[in-house]
Amino acid sequence: MTTFHEKDVGVLISEEAVQARVKELGAEITRDYQGKELTLICVLKGSAFFAIDLARAIDLPLTLEFLGVSSYHGGTESTGEVRITTDVSKPMAGKHLLIIEDIIDTGLTMSFLLENLRARHPASVKICSLLEKPARAKTKVNIDYKGFVIEDKFVVGYGLDYGEKYRNLPFIGIWKHV
Ligand code: 5GP
Ligand code: MG
Ligand code: MG
Repeated sequence: MTTFHEKDVGVLISEEAVQARVKELGAEITRDYQGKELTLICVLKGSAFFAIDLARAIDLPLTLEFLGVSSYHGGTESTGEVRITTDVSKPMAGKHLLIIEDIIDTGLTMSFLLENLRARHPASVKICSLLEKPARAKTKVNIDYKGFVIEDKFVVGYGLDYGEKYRNLPFIGIWKHV
C-alpha cells in the first residue's frame, strides 16, 4: 500500500519522535508555570496540530487562544510584513502568554508577534516553537521551549504546509522537489 504523500515527502522526524518531544515539552511547561494562569497562543494555521497536542500534555488549567497571521512573502522568503487576520478573543493584559509556533525560520514573524503582544501589557511572554531553522535567521529570537533544530530544508507535515497541503501528515517530512 502506498499513501498519498510518498513520492513527494520523505520522513525527517517520525511521528513517535514528535509525540515523545511534545510530551517532554509539556512536562517542562507544567513545572515552569505552577501556580500561574497560563494562556497558550496558537498561531494559525501551522501550529494548530502542535498546540492541541501540547495543550493535552500540559497538566495545568490553561486557556487556549488562536491568533491568525499572514506574512507577505517576496518570493520564497518572508519579508517580515506580517498582518493579523484573526485576533485573540480576550484582552491579554496581566496574562502569562506562551506563543506556540510551528517553525522559526527568519524570525521576522515571531519578532512582529512579540512586539504586538508585549504592547498589550501581559504579565509575561514566552515562546515555544516545534522547529527552528537557525541557518536562515535574520533576527535573534530567544526560543524558551524548542522541539527540534533542523537544517535548511523545506519541511511539511504536523501542521506545516506546501500550498496548503500535507498539514495532516503525522510526522515532519522533507519536501523532495526543492
Ligand atoms: P519566519 O518569519 O520565521 O521566516 O517564518 C515563519 C513562517 O514561515 C512559519 O510559521 C511557516 O509558516 C513558514 N515556513 C518557514 N519555513 C518553513 C518550512 O520549512 N516549511 C513550511 N511548510 N513553512 C515554513
Ligand atoms: Mg507559523
Ligand atoms: Mg505556510
